Amino acid sequence: MITIAVSKGRIYEDALPLLAEAGITPIDDPLTCRKLILRTTRDDVQLVIIRATDVPTFVEYGAADMGIAGKDILLEHGAESLYEPLDLNIACCRLMTAAHKDAPPIAGRVRVATKYVKITQRYFAGLGIQAEIIKLYGSMELAPLVGLSDCIVDLVDTGNTLKANDLEPRDLIMNISSRLVVNKAAMKMKHQAIQSLLDQFEKTLAKRG
Ligand code: AMP
Repeated sequence: MITIAVSKGRIYEDALPLLAEAGITPIDDPLTCRKLILRTTRDDVQLVIIRATDVPTFVEYGAADMGIAGKDILLEHGAESLYEPLDLNIACCRLMTAAHKDAPPIAGRVRVATKYVKITQRYFAGLGIQAEIIKLYGSMELAPLVGLSDCIVDLVDTGNTLKANDLEPRDLIMNISSRLVVNKAAMKMKHQAIQSLLDQFEKTLAKRG
């Protein structure tokens, strides 16, 4: 049995067609059923549906053989203990700084609200800007509006969430896409099964161009 860890939401939706090309279609819909382990149309593959930030942990400890996670999550987790063989080119977005549309340029000493503490620390240190980082778990956009921070670091896709809150994107930190990660021991112990899945994903990605 191969267990693949996936998070609900954008990544799950974008991963479904890719999984389907490899013959993997979940039998239950995680949106309507409360099951956390989903059997699939392949007897040898099951999905576990977990929070995005938990995907690297499940794969690192071998609770899942493989996982699909955003590069943002992997960098923040410190995923050197995992193999990252494929960029799946799904759930693409940008990790950016953003501030109130009337706020001055980000410079000097700044307070930054984000859930990406490590990436943000590294980014501002690289610019030589002294940043006080405030860790939040959600609704980052609120922080500059209520005076909690000067700016935020968050994922931006269409920019609509920022715009709806009178914020604007400022600097691009990095482009983000979802990656396939593999547990190192599983790569050895279940090599044939995992390699065959990797080959199938790769073929689909090549077709997409
Ligand atoms: P948007 O309004 O389209 O710019 O989307 C921004 C909101 O969606 C923010 O709350 C982001 O954290 C979240 N978001 C955007 N892209 C992604 C992604 N690829 N994966 C997870 N969350 C995302």
